[in-house]
Amino acid sequence: AKEQGKNKYKVFHSGMNIESYRTFLLQSDLRKAIERDELSLVFQPKINVQTGKVSSVEALVRWKHPKWGMIPPNEFIPLAEEIGVIMDIDKWVLHNACKQIAQWKNNELSSIRIAVNFSAQHFIQQNLVTEVKEQLEMTNIDPTLLEIEITETALLGNEDFIITTLRKLKELNIHVSLDDFGTGYSSLNYLRVFPFDTVKIDKAFIQELTQQGEKSHAIVESIIYLANKLAINVVAEGVETIEQLNILKELYCNEYQGYHFCRPLPPAELFEFLEKYEKI
Ligand code: C2E
Ligand code: CA
Ligand code: CA
Ligand code: CA
Repeated sequence: AKEQGKNKYKVFHSGMNIESYRTFLLQSDLRKAIERDELSLVFQPKINVQTGKVSSVEALVRWKHPKWGMIPPNEFIPLAEEIGVIMDIDKWVLHNACKQIAQWKNNELSSIRIAVNFSAQHFIQQNLVTEVKEQLEMTNIDPTLLEIEITETALLGNEDFIITTLRKLKELNIHVSLDDFGTGYSSLNYLRVFPFDTVKIDKAFIQELTQQGEKSHAIVESIIYLANKLAINVVAEGVETIEQLNILKELYCNEYQGYHFCRPLPPAELFEFLEKYEKI
């Protein structure tokens, strides 16, 4: 999908000029977004399927463009990757997630882990572990409350380097998760080779879970079965209905995430939501 996104601007079509002009403007504005304080974080809970308790929340970045309003991450993250600004955005997200953990230290959210998404480009940086360590020290938080999600794309290439990086993060007591599992170049072998604590099943499979005759059910069942056998925590993302949740329960999925429970929320609203439903 990422490749397609890039090619879109190279193929000639009547809308090209406007589209590439928007890309050009967005990319130049992206470079200034951090210093202009236009980025913010929203948080979406992951819930234990059996107990209904919230174990962690995923931090998702939002960009409010001064002229065009909210730009979805699916649009600006690929643009940020193209111009290398993604490293700065990921660092900003990491820093602010750690600050949030520090802020929650003294309230009911004190045991809730925050997961941040690292882009593949960022994950393969030589100094990544040092950078994470610095953030932990700067904010003085408990490392077990930090989780890093990476997609399979980050696993392509230098296998030994990636395994070493994952091990170093785990030595720091950080939780590491494999995101969007089942899409792209997915291999079941990844679960054996790389030392992940959690695997997240991509929402594309979850959305087809209740549709008759779909292969997704068998795929989800296999991933959960395998993860359970390998003692890897398994999370289903994009759960929108009670029917989907019920199937996941039957299949012994550990955790779920999705609009059925709650949309990603700004910190104050999240706190209010969780308090109201006594999920903490
Ligand atoms: P992701 O990491 O797979 O995040 C899950 C996406 O699914 C989020 O979209 C979330 O809002 C959405 N979602 C949650 N529940 C449901 C549901 O029940 N149904 C449906 N249809 N969608 C649901 P969002 O926030 O727009 O982010 C899209 C993608 O952008 C993320 O996918 C991630 O790849 C990237 N992204 C977001 N924040 C960051 C970030 O801070 N850093 C990096 N590097 N990438 C980010
Ligand atoms: Ca994610
Ligand atoms: Ca995902
Ligand atoms: Ca995704």
